[in-house]
Amino acid sequence: MSDCLFCKIRDGEMKANIVHRDEDVIAFEDINPQAPTHILIIPTKHIPTIDAMEPDDAEVVGKLFLAARKLARDRGHDESGYRVVMNMGRDAGQAVYHIHLHLLGGRPLSWPPG
Ligand code: AMP
Ligand code: ZN
Repeated sequence: MSDCLFCKIRDGEMKANIVHRDEDVIAFEDINPQAPTHILIIPTKHIPTIDAMEPDDAEVVGKLFLAARKLARDRGHDESGYRVVMNMGRDAGQAVYHIHLHLLGGRPLSWPPG
């Protein structure tokens, strides 16, 4: 997807503070952090939304969560807790149509979200 912001970050065409990269998953700091830790975790593959996922995508989506766990542990949030969230579509406020897990940690997080 040539016009996708997160594909451009994946391909090095857009700058980002990348904190993890492997064959299937890339993670980088959110540009507008909402918590002391706010990392976006994306699949290398361009998948626009949860709704567009195919059954074959299940494994890589699991890997997004494993990357979130690793990054949260690295930052010491495994004791205190943290949140992972993925928005889907307009009502959830999805702004970038390349699926991404938000990893939020380092402060108490209220529930329910707005
Ligand atoms: P969502 O609303 O779930 O689609 O989240 C999109 C997220 O991407 C927001 O938290 C933005 O702050 C973040 N974002 C937008 N542009 C960039 C960028 N160039 N680098 C890092 N994060 C970004
Ligand atoms: Zn993309």
